[in-house]
Amino acid sequence: MRVGGLNKVSTLDYPKGVSAVVFTQGCNFFCPYCHNPDLVRPFGTLMDEDGVLEFLKTRVKLLDGVVISGGEPTVVADLPEFILKVKGFGYKVKLDTNGSRPETIKDLLERHLVDYVALDIKADPRAYPPELGPPEETERVMETINLLKRLGRPHEFRTTAAAPFVNDDSVEAIARAATGDAPLYLQKFKPQTVFTPGFMANHPDQPGPEDLYRFRDIARHHLPAFIR
Ligand code: SF4
Repeated sequence: MRVGGLNKVSTLDYPKGVSAVVFTQGCNFFCPYCHNPDLVRPFGTLMDEDGVLEFLKTRVKLLDGVVISGGEPTVVADLPEFILKVKGFGYKVKLDTNGSRPETIKDLLERHLVDYVALDIKADPRAYPPELGPPEETERVMETINLLKRLGRPHEFRTTAAAPFVNDDSVEAIARAATGDAPLYLQKFKPQTVFTPGFMANHPDQPGPEDLYRFRDIARHHLPAFIR
């Protein structure tokens, strides 16, 4: 599998647990505010998959789970095979995804290869702006939202509060689409490293703490919402 990075220990990424985070390489979106640009481009340095698996094998008694993040894991062809190996060690697996491949997520859930899904919703999911990715890649996020709600397996929604994609209206649309028991976590945009600095420089007025509280309150009309 195309492994672009490994965080050997994290207390933040698996719900209520200690995990390792495996980052896949390559993404089908190009969010201007992406803080992992080296994982988006398909030509970064890869890690040795066997070495990563060997490391995970030695941590079985120390870690509660493994998070597969990216980049976008669901565009990696041999993702299921990699997860099968991780599952073979007895780990719980969390998938971080942009939601562009609902059929892959459905397959992973139905085969019990994934125990928890964190879905990023980046804008009004009825139609993402083309600045986030090619429309043919972004158009199925709503399908993934509905899939997660229908299957009822443990999941959460996440939104990075980055202008111009997130505002009062898009938060209302996101929360309406995701409405239910699963939480929505709103996170602040971090300007330190971004995929398209020129685009972000043209949008200097980014949501601040007061905006995040307002977004949270808007979302809470439809689902549990928190600032992370
Ligand atoms: S933030 Fe966007 S571009 Fe970056 S990895 Fe996630 S989906 Fe891909």
